[in-house]
Amino acid sequence: MLRSGILLALLAPVFAQQYSAPLRGFPVEDRKAQQELEEHARAIPQADRIRVYMERIASKPHQAGSPASKAVADYLAAQLKDWGLDARIENFEALMPYPTVRVLEMTSPVKFRAELKEPALAEDPSTSEPGQLPSYNAYAATGDVTAPLVYVNYGSPDDYAELRRDGIDVKGKIVIARYGRNWRGVKAKLAQENGAIGCLIYSDPRDDGFYQGDIYPKGPMRPEEGVQRGSVLDMGLYPGDPLTPGWADEAGAKRLPQAEAKSLLKIPVLPISWGDAKPLLEQLGGPLVPEPWRGALPITYHMGAGPAVVHLKVDFDWTVKPLHDVIVTIPGTVDKDRAVIYGNHHDAWVNGASDPASGAAVLMETARTLSTLLRQGWHPKRTIVLALWDGEEFGLLGSTEWAEKHLQELQRGAAVYINSDNTGRGALAAGGSPSLETFMSEVLRDINDPSAPRSLLEAALAAARARRPRATDTPEFHLAPLGSGSDYVAFLDHLGVASLNLGFAGGDAGVYHSIYDTMEWFDRFSDGSLAYGKALTQVMATSILRLADAPVLPFDFASLERAVRVYTDELQRDAQKRPGALDLRGVDTQLARLDTAAKDYDDQLALTMKRVPPPAPEQLAKVNDILQKAEASLLSPQGLPGREWYQNEIVAPGLYTGYDAKTLPGIREAVEAQHYDEANQQARVVAQALRALESKVEEAARLLK
Ligand SMILES: [Zn+2]
Repeated sequence: MLRSGILLALLAPVFAQQYSAPLRGFPVEDRKAQQELEEHARAIPQADRIRVYMERIASKPHQAGSPASKAVADYLAAQLKDWGLDARIENFEALMPYPTVRVLEMTSPVKFRAELKEPALAEDPSTSEPGQLPSYNAYAATGDVTAPLVYVNYGSPDDYAELRRDGIDVKGKIVIARYGRNWRGVKAKLAQENGAIGCLIYSDPRDDGFYQGDIYPKGPMRPEEGVQRGSVLDMGLYPGDPLTPGWADEAGAKRLPQAEAKSLLKIPVLPISWGDAKPLLEQLGGPLVPEPWRGALPITYHMGAGPAVVHLKVDFDWTVKPLHDVIVTIPGTVDKDRAVIYGNHHDAWVNGASDPASGAAVLMETARTLSTLLRQGWHPKRTIVLALWDGEEFGLLGSTEWAEKHLQELQRGAAVYINSDNTGRGALAAGGSPSLETFMSEVLRDINDPSAPRSLLEAALAAARARRPRATDTPEFHLAPLGSGSDYVAFLDHLGVASLNLGFAGGDAGVYHSIYDTMEWFDRFSDGSLAYGKALTQVMATSILRLADAPVLPFDFASLERAVRVYTDELQRDAQKRPGALDLRGVDTQLARLDTAAKDYDDQLALTMKRVPPPAPEQLAKVNDILQKAEASLLSPQGLPGREWYQNEIVAPGLYTGYDAKTLPGIREAVEAQHYDEANQQARVVAQALRALESKVEEAARLLK
């Protein structure tokens, strides 16, 4: 056990004040010991060790499906076992196309053949490692097309509306969109839906190149030949292996024929550098583009179509390849069928020092921190699962297949899922389920900001104040709603597990998904000292200790109610601008009832936490069971309209925004499509979910008595 006397003597002067701070879910008399344990845990992480894992993970290109990805998984598992942890590799399979043919040329009015090559840099030896996957968009269709070119700005629904107003039809054409704003998969999907037969996506220097700062290697931004790889799987329908929607792809599993996989695109798509895009854009005529469509190239931007005619030919090896998830289980001692899960992917498009090694290394150091505590005699009350996912870049493959395989046990016992991905040295970005806002703010209150003498909570509140300089009310801490873009999706949207996504802002836009995302880049332009990596390890270790050991799971349903009310008000305001009648009275009524239930629960929890002796473990187990089910009652079994894999009624990635979250997605997307019957039907589903939640919250309060 911990020699808490010595520890306390060392730490008491600095932290005495903190011991009286609230700790949701802990009896008053346990708080001091818990915060002592956490303080002890936060002293374990070391920046130097984080660097070792990062260098190892990012030393070679290691895309999912390759032997190099398996080698990374083997290294991670061996290291975890070395610390005495129960680590294993769970293998899955998935369709993972690699490129075999990539041709892009302009056939008229002038001939030009695109290089499609990111040059290695003498200043950065990692950029010349063998085994790099050429630049491409995974899950674009095989195709060979020739057509006039049209510039579509970011390729959003509004951009296509603008083109229509200018009399430009993209039907039968090849479009060129720039990266940024919306997710690339949405650009490709909208190109297809608007009738384009091919799609190019390029990185304009205005968004992540010389317009923003010096280019690599002089500065952090994207060089002329830099290309953003990435998936164009239609993850708005469902993530994971396109051939096994809703079930796990293991060796011998039933698979859809490729032609029936709805998340696969039907047109060829290719990402290119601005170096390759400029000659094409220069040969566009037609209307001048509106001012906001203009990038930073020294050309006059026109819409087209043509006179540039381009020939695009791509092909892939459409094979199923292996995935290797590394999973650690630390069994709980009291509430052992319930688990706190923390995951970060390990696969990369190329070397991936920032994405994902920076986050994966933090997970490893968190694992070492927990293993150190275990050796010192601590054991978690709940089970802790640590996961290093494979295949995230292709479409959240490793996490989705794992969640689908373990669906029933996760529905029964997954209390919270915590995710991280690339992390840098900017402000802390914290997204997640609103029921975890109080919990998260209490964690951040207890951790130092690596850049200033203040807590991470104070830093977050200062940032909130800076965003709204004229607001007079004191800023509050809020978690941003989660859309998509990393491995929490299956847990939050398919299983209804309360989730968090945490990391320091990266500043890695200029090298994102390119051969230039290397340790050399990270050292010079991101968290080279790993002070932020260490702070994120402290955040993760503290969060996990607290979630694993809190006698009562720290969900706050008053925060959840407040958040849903904000979303409802937004919808109401939005709908007033449009014709048609949106009726949210049922949702309003339920929110009022939930508010009352949440306050009653909070009063009861406060009483229980002061009670001596505290409630018996069997009683608390029942309460926690109900609390976990409360969160899951936000799922509807029929799912969202047209995409039944997504079952969370409160949040989902937008069908036409991608990474950005849509709150109350069923209602909102119907309102946006001006289908008010469907919107009102969806409002009834939301009201029903809130009613189910309310009854669980009431039950939890009763059980605490
Ligand atoms: Zn990532």
